[in-house]
Amino acid sequence: MSRHLINILRYNILLVVLAVIFFNNAYAQSTTTTKKEKLKVIKVDPPVFGFYTNVLYCDSIVVRSSREVDNDALVLAGMKIRTMLKFMPIVRHNLIQRGAEVHIIARGQHISDMPEFLEMKGKPFRDNIGALYKSVDERFQGLTKKVFACCTEENILYGTTYDLCVHEFAHLVMLEGMDENIQKKIINQYRLSISKGLWKNLYAATDAKEYFAELSTYYFGANARAFSHLVDNESAPEALREYDEGGYNLLDSLYSGLLQPAIVNMQPAVKMAENSNLYVYDNTRKTELTVVNNTGKKLFIYSNNTQTTGSEVSPYLHRTLTVWAMQIVMIKDEQGKVFGYYKAVGANCQLAISD
Ligand SMILES: [Zn+2]
Repeated sequence: MSRHLINILRYNILLVVLAVIFFNNAYAQSTTTTKKEKLKVIKVDPPVFGFYTNVLYCDSIVVRSSREVDNDALVLAGMKIRTMLKFMPIVRHNLIQRGAEVHIIARGQHISDMPEFLEMKGKPFRDNIGALYKSVDERFQGLTKKVFACCTEENILYGTTYDLCVHEFAHLVMLEGMDENIQKKIINQYRLSISKGLWKNLYAATDAKEYFAELSTYYFGANARAFSHLVDNESAPEALREYDEGGYNLLDSLYSGLLQPAIVNMQPAVKMAENSNLYVYDNTRKTELTVVNNTGKKLFIYSNNTQTTGSEVSPYLHRTLTVWAMQIVMIKDEQGKVFGYYKAVGANCQLAISD
């Protein structure tokens, strides 16, 4: 090969190398500009619900804890949420609309120390398979109630075989992020898998909710050992695919974004004048009204001037009722103090009561 040809070749190789470096940099820059915000913990004062001082906003999904919890636990929880919601923008939107949050239990704390579970402290607790315990703390390390998913700091930081945070957050994904049609698909798949004799004596067999939450932990790579005696493959999620292909396929179509739920948009209920007439409404249409109780007191929802059945709202929790469109409700506490009158105007109405 002539020296001239070699020089031309060298020059061309140099151009290719420079082009690769340039495009790589351009690509890196374009990806960094769309990179998600860094997950960081913020301290709030006064504490939310008189308890939660630490907060992390994970793309607008809230992670909270008391001051004892290590910041790393909140950041790790945020990373898990991001992984789970990566291809589920509508679920994220719905969770934000409904006010879903992840709460982290500090080492030394129990579930019943969390404000939203305070009512359960020291009381006998019957679990979802009917077994009776001295208290919820004796039975569970994590629990999801309404829009709050609780899990322990220890499990997030040091858990190696079981992912409590993914399990509890999966409950929120299913119950608050997905619509009825998708929930029915999960229920049907659960029934089908159980009818095939799968998940016998395992927690996933409890009900459709636990089925989805447990399978989510396997799908995201934890806890394959729970059923490793039933499959050849010990690594999740491949083991899940091998053991329950239908369940795997459903989760995969949900978590990969193939199946998207309907969008939920909450509208604020309209505050009305005191002593508004509770009998005026449109009795041809029904609507959903969610009352968010941000107080430490039990609240009661009154409609038609009577306390509606099932209208109690526990401290720091919420309750969703089906009411007539344009119906006015009144909110009272146990002492009879009136917190206001509100009209349910939209299809999904929400009102928040604070002290
Ligand atoms: Zn569960």
